[in-house]
Amino acid sequence: MFKGLFKKLRCVFGRNSSRRNDAKPPHFGSVVVSTKAPANDEIEERVLIQVKYQGKPYWCLFKCPCGCRRVISLSLQENHEPHWELKVTESGIPSLSPSVWQTVGCLSHFWIEEGFVRWCTNTGQKPWIAEPEYYSKPRKNL
Ligand SMILES: [Zn+2]
Repeated sequence: MFKGLFKKLRCVFGRNSSRRNDAKPPHFGSVVVSTKAPANDEIEERVLIQVKYQGKPYWCLFKCPCGCRRVISLSLQENHEPHWELKVTESGIPSLSPSVWQTVGCLSHFWIEEGFVRWCTNTGQKPWIAEPEYYSKPRKNL
């Protein structure tokens, strides 16, 4: 029980400090800042788009890192629930938390740590089945 809880917290808050010595470059190697949201077909793989207007972050958009080509758009606005925090290093490498869990299609569950995609162990499962105490099944029209 506690072990499971710890795993979940680590996953949700992205506090996995184990760093793989991967020599390959991060999946998300750059951030493009835009004042308005681009059309889905303008979004390239491996590029994270931050929609920012007058210094305030609004949205974050990128193609799902699993390769399914679906565009994921997340709110960065604190008055939205849920919302995400995007941090960008001086060299333009993004970190995104908490984790993203797709409720349709590939059901990918991951977070982004300094450009690298960190996959959660329950990726590919429906959130309301893998973690029924935290998630309920979304309504059809979502
Ligand atoms: Zn996907």
